Amino acid sequence: MFKLEEFKKNMENICHEIYGNGLTPGLSGNVSLKIPDLNEKINKTSVKHQAVILITPTGVSLKDINLKNIIVTDTDGNHLDGDGKPSSELYMHLRIYKVREDIQSIVHTHSPYATGFSFTNKQIPRLEGFGKIREPYINVIDYAPPGSDELVELATEGVKNEDVLILKDHGVLAVGSNIENAAILADFTEKCAKTGFVSLLLNNI
Ligand SMILES: [Zn+2]
Repeated sequence: MFKLEEFKKNMENICHEIYGNGLTPGLSGNVSLKIPDLNEKINKTSVKHQAVILITPTGVSLKDINLKNIIVTDTDGNHLDGDGKPSSELYMHLRIYKVREDIQSIVHTHSPYATGFSFTNKQIPRLEGFGKIREPYINVIDYAPPGSDELVELATEGVKNEDVLILKDHGVLAVGSNIENAAILADFTEKCAKTGFVSLLLNNI
């Protein structure tokens, strides 16, 4: 199997898993991964030792991601392959890859508990599992409209020293060294929010 096809297949499976875990209700959320060094044909164009980005299309539920509708672009967002249009957050993903050369995947969700917290002033406790725990709560970045340049700036700045962010009044952004790790972090963040919700509730009884 070609490398690109292998990555697409893996991305398809993980997108279905993310949806199945309830992290991206409806058409929400987007996922990308970076192949740092691809050396094969995409459509009829030969790509020689070039980094490419695979990203989910806009307007498609993560449960419906397949080998055909995963969009492939170069690192500037030029379309190379895939049916449909890339996620409206493509430029946020591209910018993050430029400032975090150590990561190869980004998962953005609207998972219910974490997103619920994002609409309040309450913070999500950072539970064990984040490795080096720096602060007791997951960082929150200020509100900016989805797809806006302002959101690109805030998110890019926010992930310079963090692997997960809560986007105010919006959702979750998690990055990882591969798609499995980014997806696990997005899921773990949701579970932290759920635990945080239960503890807030019980503390008030
Ligand atoms: Zn969103």
